[in-house]
Amino acid sequence: MKAVVFERHGGPEVLRYTDLPEPKAGPNDVVIQVKAAGANYNDIWARRGLPGMQIILPHVSGSDAAGVVVEVGSAVTGIKVGDEVVVHPSLSCRTCEMCTSGQEFFCREFKIWGFQTGPNDGSHAQYARLPAVNIVPKPKNLSFVEAASLPLVLLTAWRMLVSRARVQPGDFVLIWGGAGGLGVMAIQICRLFGARPIAVVSTEEKAQKVGDLGAEFVIIRTKQDVYEEVRRITGRRGVDIVFEHVGQATFPTSIRCLRWGGTLVTCGATSGFEAVTDVRFLWNKQLNFLGSHMGNKAELLQALRWVEAGKIRPVIHTVLPLQEVPRGQELMEKDQTIGKVVYVPDSA
Ligand SMILES: [Zn+2]
Repeated sequence: MKAVVFERHGGPEVLRYTDLPEPKAGPNDVVIQVKAAGANYNDIWARRGLPGMQIILPHVSGSDAAGVVVEVGSAVTGIKVGDEVVVHPSLSCRTCEMCTSGQEFFCREFKIWGFQTGPNDGSHAQYARLPAVNIVPKPKNLSFVEAASLPLVLLTAWRMLVSRARVQPGDFVLIWGGAGGLGVMAIQICRLFGARPIAVVSTEEKAQKVGDLGAEFVIIRTKQDVYEEVRRITGRRGVDIVFEHVGQATFPTSIRCLRWGGTLVTCGATSGFEAVTDVRFLWNKQLNFLGSHMGNKAELLQALRWVEAGKIRPVIHTVLPLQEVPRGQELMEKDQTIGKVVYVPDSA
């Protein structure tokens, strides 16, 4: 089968479109023909290499996939060849105390599929093998491309806002990277819960798009001062929740923008990990800082129900042939995307 592989870390030039053996299902596995595979920032982290984290080489990236089941392991029930499915990208043992209490992200064997797994085990290939428990039905109202764009960002944003920050009707929510894959999900989740999203974007074009998606307020950070705009929008009160994933570049502003008793929830730091915190604000304003990482299968299924109900829509920036993974990663690294990049393998 064809796949996009890298054997050493570096820029997009280390990615090779090449042949690999097709995966075979173990007793508890399912093999899918990948009809479409989503792009995520994880793909870029893995390719560059992360200090303190082992990326297994050779590596096939890709944590999101939608496809058709082509092989089912001997012990698998409830899934059959021909089923149209998407992937739940959190792998864990499924039997420990953490897993059985719905906290699979605390499992000692927790891994994000296509990021921490390997060798050669992600969705940027014509076929993929996964444990059957990581297969969920594709929302019927979505194409494969639309479905492949969703799980990782939808699950991450859902857990951040719903399970962790407990978003409430009327909450002002400041959303960094409003036009990115996570941001477009966060905006729609806020609307679903009756909250008031304030999306931060970099261009007029992105402002238009996030407005169409339901952002009640939009701040263009290249032209406007985010803190001053937040004060104006909220009547100097500050926001109830900040949706963080940028880190170093935005963290001090995020803290300033919070109302007294407000909540910052973060799932990443694309601009750098050493975010400055003036701890006086943390205690004096009695702020809540929450970490969030992926989510559990129940959260994904819950979120996908709202997709099937048409309340959360996929947002696709572009669809590229699988050979063009390097170009997709460059678009993301240059912050040129609105929504998601999706790859389609040949003959899919
Ligand atoms: Zn476990």
